[in-house]
Amino acid sequence: MTFQQRTHLAGSLRAEHIGQHVIINGWVAVSRDLGGVLFFDMRDRSGKLQCVIQPSEETMLLYEEAKRLRAEYVVSVSGVVRRREKVNPKMATGEVEVLVDAFDVLNESDVPPFEIKEEVTANEDLRLKYRYLDLRRPNLANNLAIRHKITQSIRRYFDERGFLEIETPILMKATPEGARDFLVPSRLHKGKFYALPQSPQIYKQLLMVSGLDRYFQIAKCFRDEDLRADRQPEFTQLDVEMSFTNEEVVQEIMEGSLRQTWSDLGYTLPPFKRLTYKTAMERYGSDKPDLRYGLEITTITELVRGKTEFKVFQDALEKKRGVIGAVVAPKAAEWSRKQLDQLTEHAKIYGAGGLVWMKITESGVESSAKKFLSDEVTSSIAAATGARVGDLILIVSHVNWERAYTILGALRSELAKRLGLLEGRSFEFAPLWVTDMPMFELDEATGEFVPKHHPFTSPNLEDWARASEGLEHIRARAYDIVVNGYELGSGSIRIHDRKLQIEVFDMLKISKEEQQHKFGFLLEAFQYGAPPHGGMALGIDRIAMLCCGTENIRDVIAFPKTTSMQSLMDDAPSTVEPYQLRDLHIEIK
Ligand code: ASP
Repeated sequence: MTFQQRTHLAGSLRAEHIGQHVIINGWVAVSRDLGGVLFFDMRDRSGKLQCVIQPSEETMLLYEEAKRLRAEYVVSVSGVVRRREKVNPKMATGEVEVLVDAFDVLNESDVPPFEIKEEVTANEDLRLKYRYLDLRRPNLANNLAIRHKITQSIRRYFDERGFLEIETPILMKATPEGARDFLVPSRLHKGKFYALPQSPQIYKQLLMVSGLDRYFQIAKCFRDEDLRADRQPEFTQLDVEMSFTNEEVVQEIMEGSLRQTWSDLGYTLPPFKRLTYKTAMERYGSDKPDLRYGLEITTITELVRGKTEFKVFQDALEKKRGVIGAVVAPKAAEWSRKQLDQLTEHAKIYGAGGLVWMKITESGVESSAKKFLSDEVTSSIAAATGARVGDLILIVSHVNWERAYTILGALRSELAKRLGLLEGRSFEFAPLWVTDMPMFELDEATGEFVPKHHPFTSPNLEDWARASEGLEHIRARAYDIVVNGYELGSGSIRIHDRKLQIEVFDMLKISKEEQQHKFGFLLEAFQYGAPPHGGMALGIDRIAMLCCGTENIRDVIAFPKTTSMQSLMDDAPSTVEPYQLRDLHIEIK
């Protein structure tokens, strides 16, 4: 088939093109015959453009033929760009239109299962089933273009700084990093399995042992975890590792990379704040706080100690790890009983037994715990939190400080939502480093301390020397980047000393056999001159979400999975042929 090759992209035409003869290749977005004049919009990756056929003696045939144009027909159209009679300010090309002198239909289309337009009305499952059609929407295509820019910017940045982009295997040994592995059965080695990498962690460390010095990779990672709005079973990381380094150097490189990416996209990233894990928890109730708004938490444990018999507070006051904290909702004193009940329910999802509220009104303090708290106590709480007349104070108490702050943090973000504090602020960015992470965290279900990071993270060596005093106070040499409430990535200085690695495995209660079976090759590598090293990984999908202003991770992935981990388009996962199972020595029970 021969047809006229495009001279321009549909979405690129502007007033400056008026008078030019152009050729556009693309899809018919919509066509309307106004009985005499026929309009159709052409669409391609770049946007939409109005085309018009005005019947005259020369175009009579063209007009008749154009009547068969339907949505999603593939067309090559030519004509002269002219000023539109009525400018459409909603279209980037809204000042102009093309007066068509010829067109070729290159392919026809069935009526698509949903109308392909910017404002989606079709439900997401249907759009995922026909993902290739959904991707025709210029806004989704634009997200992929932004993502492309992000990865190009990253590649340039790391190349310029002497990093080598090195690919690591997708089929690897199961070496858990904290999540569940996806396994791949081996045909040649009956009963044995590969795992898909949760991240290239061990490989990149081995590359440092090899002397490769500075590594990066835009790596696919796989974790068989329950999904959330910002998670997919396979996701992409910017993975980085460096030798002879320390926290400051790694952090400077990673921060610089994000700054570069933001600037390549036309945004500026403000200076990074720094918070220790403990401060982040105490002030914002989260190790990934959104700092675009305040609503800081006030700890009132000591303020109420000895001043009340209130049963709800007693438990927290008696326990060493107990905390009572408060968060203020400005100008929310008039919120209804129902709204307060909803907030209580919200707090319960995060583990609260209940919620104490105080309303500061002109005529004094109203409170759900009025009977149990003296005027002196309520006014000192109001003063400590900085609450003013018209404000609402929410108080949480819990025997475990991390839980208490987590509940308060959840309330903080819920309040921000209800108060509309983030409306229209998607492209405002508040980056921060969270440092001094604890090495272990309390598993509330078992009461045991479990590792907070992958087991290759170096402990703070001074803390480690005092490990016998308790695990709670051991800090890891780990750090996170957080932007707008998303953990964009985490990293650490690694263990490079075999003896220390074994000590940490021991402390994590990984048996000697397991150490040997799963990590023997790493321990062996550490016998041959492993340099000090450290690194970090950043989630590309999350970076793309921020840069595209979306909270839905599927908006920035070409072919995403649903939250139940299915690909509705190709129907994966699916059954396979019996011979395939036989080859793999697998029987389905
Ligand atoms: N491998 C780690 C992760 O995927 C990141 C790192 O420590 O570099 O979370």
